Amino acid sequence: MILRTHYTGDVTPEIDGTEVTLAGFAHEIRNLGGIAFLVLRDRKGFAQITLVKKLVDKATFKKVAGISRESVVQVRGMVKAEAKAPGGFEILPTEVQVLNAAEVPLPMDPTEKVECELDTRLDSRFMDIRRPCVLAAFEIESAVLRVLRDYFYRQGITEVFTPKIVAAATEGGTDLFPISYFEREAFLNQSPQLYKQMLMGAGMDRVFEIGPIFRAEEHDTRRHLNEAISIDIEVSFADDKDVMDILEGAVVSAYQYVAENCSRQLAALNLDFQVPKAPFKRITYTEALELAKEGRNVPMQWGDDLDTETERFLGETIGEHYFLTDWPSSIKPYYTLPYEDRPEICRGFDLMHPRMELASGAQRVHDHAMLVERIRGKGLDPSGFEFYLKAFRYGMPPHAGWGLGLSRLIMTMLKLENIRDAVIFPRDRRRLVP
Ligand code: ATP
Ligand code: MG
Repeated sequence: MILRTHYTGDVTPEIDGTEVTLAGFAHEIRNLGGIAFLVLRDRKGFAQITLVKKLVDKATFKKVAGISRESVVQVRGMVKAEAKAPGGFEILPTEVQVLNAAEVPLPMDPTEKVECELDTRLDSRFMDIRRPCVLAAFEIESAVLRVLRDYFYRQGITEVFTPKIVAAATEGGTDLFPISYFEREAFLNQSPQLYKQMLMGAGMDRVFEIGPIFRAEEHDTRRHLNEAISIDIEVSFADDKDVMDILEGAVVSAYQYVAENCSRQLAALNLDFQVPKAPFKRITYTEALELAKEGRNVPMQWGDDLDTETERFLGETIGEHYFLTDWPSSIKPYYTLPYEDRPEICRGFDLMHPRMELASGAQRVHDHAMLVERIRGKGLDPSGFEFYLKAFRYGMPPHAGWGLGLSRLIMTMLKLENIRDAVIFPRDRRRLVP
């Protein structure tokens, strides 16, 4: 049996006289002697429970006055329109039950009056998420996942899951977490890249996966974590431009859906929310370097990866989402397809928010011989990739795809300072609990 008939947010002054049962946390208790107020909070808002000493029995009054903050309570009572109360109504209770009392003192104050350190908040994340402005981000994240799945289904893209325990690195290198796997060493996968490409060879044609990626990088920034959720797609018989269109559509749909369906959460975040306009600007890596010259004392060399300073300058200059295309082949991974007539440039792209990179994608190499050569060119040993290369020997369609960081999308969408604000239980170099 569900212990409530209504959420606070669904009660309005118009249902004056209706009996409701609410359940949630004791947000605030005020005993003024002849009258006491209990503010009940649930995930949709607040309700003021008003107890007039003369009208309720003594035991109930005493019980309410003694409830510790954040205890779990259930209240049955009558709705009464009351302009001065939050939401324009109050509840005159007939029954108040403490379902579970909270200990005193609390590990942090969840009433939003006092802003506390991120680390303190993360240490008591369950309490932190009771704050509407924190909860809002995760409810919006769920809404974004829902609309993105819908968007993919409408384009005939199949949802898949690929293994997170793997034998080899996607891109070689050392950014992998080794784990012990019976008598062998295995790794946590850094990207579903190789697997989604193999599924193109399997004739699945269009796949998407929403799942964790693991990066053993030691960075300590506001946009990197060691475990993140990536939204990945791969599409056969498509090129880089086709999947950029899909990506742009995905981002705009997500914003659009949030604008239309998440007004309560946006209000809790106190956000001026703008839906970005498609089409996004598309500038080449070479053009970006040219643009960035103005913002730098020492110009970047062609072939260097864009550093944070350049990214920031470009973001400030362009001021909205944009694509960076036509990267030097030397920077992008071996599976990125070089242009036939200019092999030093490739069909790789990044989707940028003015604050940071959101996604990377490319048209991929689908020719077996070229792929082997490219793997060697990156100083890697093709024999370690046999399970992957095999799928390229018996008919591999041309294909393209991308990976979009979910938390970065949410973080930039909601103007959150730190990626840790967009992840319920973040994992970084220093944090393994909770
Ligand atoms: P960056 O250059 O910003 O470190 P990347 O180029 O290494 O990112 P990709 O391998 O291109 O990342 O991964 C695709 C997307 O996944 C990124 O654009 C980003 O949104 C997200 N992502 C990658 N690594 C992380 C991470 N450590 N923490 C959070 N999100 C990540
Ligand atoms: Mg990238």
